[in-house]
Amino acid sequence: MNSAETLRVELGDRSYDIVIGSGLLPDTGKYVAPFARAAGVVILTDSSVAKLHLPTVEASLDDAGISYRSVVVPAGEASKSFATFESVIEQILAFGIERSTLIIALGGGVIGDLGGYVAASLLRGLDFVQIPTTLLSQVDSSVGGKTGINSKSGKNLVGAFHQPRLVLADTSVLDTLPKREILAGYAEVAKYGLIDEPDFFEWLENNAEAVIARDGEERKLAVYRSCSAKARVVSQDERESGKRALLNLGHTFGHAFEAELGYDGRLLHGEAVAMGMVIAHDVCAAMGMAPAQDTTRIINHLQAVGLPVRASQIAGVHWDVDRLISHMSRDKKVRDGQITFVMTRGIGKAFTSREMDVGKMRAAISRSCR
Ligand code: NAD
Ligand code: MG
Repeated sequence: MNSAETLRVELGDRSYDIVIGSGLLPDTGKYVAPFARAAGVVILTDSSVAKLHLPTVEASLDDAGISYRSVVVPAGEASKSFATFESVIEQILAFGIERSTLIIALGGGVIGDLGGYVAASLLRGLDFVQIPTTLLSQVDSSVGGKTGINSKSGKNLVGAFHQPRLVLADTSVLDTLPKREILAGYAEVAKYGLIDEPDFFEWLENNAEAVIARDGEERKLAVYRSCSAKARVVSQDERESGKRALLNLGHTFGHAFEAELGYDGRLLHGEAVAMGMVIAHDVCAAMGMAPAQDTTRIINHLQAVGLPVRASQIAGVHWDVDRLISHMSRDKKVRDGQITFVMTRGIGKAFTSREMDVGKMRAAISRSCR
């Protein structure tokens, strides 16, 4: 695609555009100009993205006559830490910023979450722009305004809601992303279909290969549909008091697997979500509320693209079901001691509920683990 598509996240005076297209990065200066003031811009990125894409962004800011400084942190989840947060904050303050300085978060979800929280914190809140460079961040983390870092007690426990002023999703930057990272992001794409867009899931069954393989119309459409799904939910429930919880389909189970392995790279978030979405459908089928053939359809699709669908596929791990269940009860989504589960009546029919058959849930987790 040559033309960019624009979506609007409607949040009153915090509304913003998501621009989706191929080859947008060289025009970054043009897109951010309306938000950049004389105080200039600080670009936050990670060491891998800095090598691949930072020069393009810097050159485009030069072309647009926008002054900037760049801050680079090590690639990886470990940068969502108090130590990196402090280091980034101190570096930026040393530049001599103003209330009108714009932060650009150029990278995957780690940079988006860290950069957004840095922007929320500096001088009690600077504007920021998300330039997501992973499929996961383009379809999920860059939209919605959740920002933050990790604590010793768990992931994403420290942070703020801080909406970006603009999201710039250039699908061509995904050409440099490793296939495994593409697939992890793809799990979140499939999730939107499973929540409430069965036609999108069906479209993905026919087009996933193209979405994953190359920067074409299919990929752009998948990012667009995903962002519109997320934007719609966020507009209705910015701070997750209700509908936004649906975005956690498969996540309560997925987080348990991730927590058990300690986020050491053996299991990517999207891989855990793929396994978790299968469990969610499996347990709902076992409870008699969803057709079992939908679970089979989901397994077939996720497996066909190359995602793990069972915990037993993660090499060298012996899962302990009791430990997994105890991780679930420590999840941030627990309210008044009860877990809100995303349940389903089938593909595209997700809903939230606290009525979980714990025995059938344990059995479904066990099936995943063996
Ligand atoms: P990431 O940011 O660590 O990126 C994954 C890897 O890909 C990194 O090594 C990075 O350097 C590299 N990379 C990024 N862009 C690249 C490119 N174009 N080419 C080559 N390599 C590239 O991880 P992620 O999967 O993007 O994001 C995960 C994070 O997002 C987690 O911390 C998670 O908690 C967070 N998250 C936040 C939200 C939210 O709503 N805020 C939602 C989902 C996930
Ligand atoms: Mg997720």
